[in-house]
Amino acid sequence: MKIGFIGTGNMGSGMAANLLKAGHALTVHDLRKAATDGLVRAGATWAESPMEVARQSDIVLTSLPGPPEVKEVALGAKGILAGAKRGNFFIDMSTNSPGTVQLIAAVAREKGVAVFDAPVTGGVTGAAAGTLTIMVGGDENLFGTVAPLLDVMGKKVVHVGDVGAGNSVKLIHQMLGAVTNQVIAEAFVLGAKAGLDLKKLFEVLANSMSASPILTEKYPRAALKRNFDPGFAIDLAYKDQVLLFEMAKELGVPLSFASLVLQKFMEARARGLGARDTTAVILPLEEMLGVTVKL
Ligand code: NAD
Repeated sequence: MKIGFIGTGNMGSGMAANLLKAGHALTVHDLRKAATDGLVRAGATWAESPMEVARQSDIVLTSLPGPPEVKEVALGAKGILAGAKRGNFFIDMSTNSPGTVQLIAAVAREKGVAVFDAPVTGGVTGAAAGTLTIMVGGDENLFGTVAPLLDVMGKKVVHVGDVGAGNSVKLIHQMLGAVTNQVIAEAFVLGAKAGLDLKKLFEVLANSMSASPILTEKYPRAALKRNFDPGFAIDLAYKDQVLLFEMAKELGVPLSFASLVLQKFMEARARGLGARDTTAVILPLEEMLGVTVKL
């Protein structure tokens, strides 16, 4: 099958590279052409627009920042649906709003194009290693057709319900991830202020009931090394929290801890940290308390 990939940024570049390695014919597009250079060198074909990608593909995948970009790339004048043929598939792997992907799916259905939302977790290292967890919403009867492709990019691929359900699961996951990210920053600043040996603190926490991959894998290669290159940018994490609150508001569910984290992301963005990694939420805390956390 011929595959198209649009949005080859931090996540998409690794995911697309794994599709190439698995032997798939791949057509790529990104707003920043340079973001596709490595893939083109590895054998992918560049296309000028999402419409061109779709014309040359049976299945088109996207990994884009969020709802406005996915809408434009899917439904725009030179978008995927302008080039897709009956029987094609479109799988959006961005973190998107359930409503946006459902709207796109309804338009696509008229054209005979099946839409799945398949957001991911596992970060840039998981994207590069092909070990993502992928939560998939869409027609269960057609899931078997796209599952082998998703298996190339993920170690755990779960069909979670109809189209949109993938993003509902993902936004709940983002709530846990963002709260965990914030509380780890506070834990290390508290440890520094208490004069603890931070290596020892890390060793204990990493082997405790409160350990998580954000603590054991993400922090050590990011904030704890003073490396704040994204990774996962605060701007994208903020976008996810806004989408989470749209969902929670619609359902009337209060989210106390996520409300605080939303404010922390807003504060970080106001301080000019939006393009930095999510672990950079530690920087305002360090400044306030006059400590530096480094292992
Ligand atoms: P990124 O900003 O690195 O990549 C997005 C890419 O989309 C960029 O290369 C950008 O040029 C391109 N793009 C933007 N608008 C476009 C358009 N209209 N047409 C074509 N290309 C366009 O972001 P990322 O970190 O790779 O994240 C991608 C998606 O995956 C986001 O929805 C994010 O929330 C989600 N996600 C990210 C991570 C992570 O750790 N980075 C983890 C899980 C999920």
